[in-house]
Amino acid sequence: MDGFLPQLEGKLLLGKTATAISVRRRQVTFADGQRLRWQQLVSTLPLPEFVRLIGDEAPERVRAAAAGLRHVSVRCVNLGIGRENLTDKHWIYYPEDTIFHRIFVQGNASPHNNPPGGFGLTCEITYSPTKPLPVDGDALIERCIRECIEVGMMTADDTVLTASIVDMPYAYVLYDHARAANVETIRSWLLTHDIVLAGRYSEWEYYNSDHAFLAGRRAAEQVRSALTVRRAGTT
Ligand SMILES: Cc1cc2nc3c(=O)[nH]c(=O)nc-3n(C[C@H](O)[C@H](O)[C@H](O)COP(=O)(O)OP(=O)(O)OC[C@H]3O[C@@H](n4cnc5c(N)ncnc54)[C@H](O)[C@@H]3O)c2cc1C
Repeated sequence: MDGFLPQLEGKLLLGKTATAISVRRRQVTFADGQRLRWQQLVSTLPLPEFVRLIGDEAPERVRAAAAGLRHVSVRCVNLGIGRENLTDKHWIYYPEDTIFHRIFVQGNASPHNNPPGGFGLTCEITYSPTKPLPVDGDALIERCIRECIEVGMMTADDTVLTASIVDMPYAYVLYDHARAANVETIRSWLLTHDIVLAGRYSEWEYYNSDHAFLAGRRAAEQVRSALTVRRAGTT
């Protein structure tokens, strides 16, 4: 991202959590108490969270549409194994009996993802209200290590140098029949308040990283043309 920073005009504030959004006052409130007003607002927040932050300033039909958006969550179990080059693959899917559906082989994505002399990988485990996690915490890590051995990713003699869990409450957008109409209801109403959606969870689309970058560019172009139209209207 460092390559993009010199292109930014204006002030960049990091580490802020939006806790409330008022469309009437065109104002975002942050966890540290700061309030900022918008001319044009671009949101990357997960769409249901964004609508939740607007609260009862959102019409009932918009809140109902947000409540209808369905998704799948993921727990990532990151493992640092004490042996180099465990595999030459980048990611492997496991559609059979393992608790994880995929291992993302971090160590082959970048050598910076490896512990010194070792190898880094991530076991991805999906969960949802209809498919709760069977185990969690240390038990989940133990289960992933055991199953990594069973599928041949590592051996029982390998040492585990480090292990951690990262939760992704919003991971995969679920494409049901109501998704497109629900997203459109929310998106078109937000646009009347000069709010533009950009990104995988904000647009509620199955984007990969490259799509997310393009979504950012589209949002920037949309904001720029809205500001240009407004300026032309006031002259
Ligand atoms: C398990 C998994 C595996 C994936 N694998 C791949 C892959 O192999 N290849 C690939 O190309 N893509 C992959 N993706 C997809 C890729 O990660 C996403 O498409 C991309 O990160 C989306 O970028 P984004 O900017 O839209 O959203 P995010 O990167 O989620 O950005 C949203 C931002 O909004 C911030 N935010 C949320 N709430 C608030 C708040 N209240 N206040 C302030 N900020 C807030 C978040 O902190 C975050 O920084 C994967 C995704 C998942 C979940």
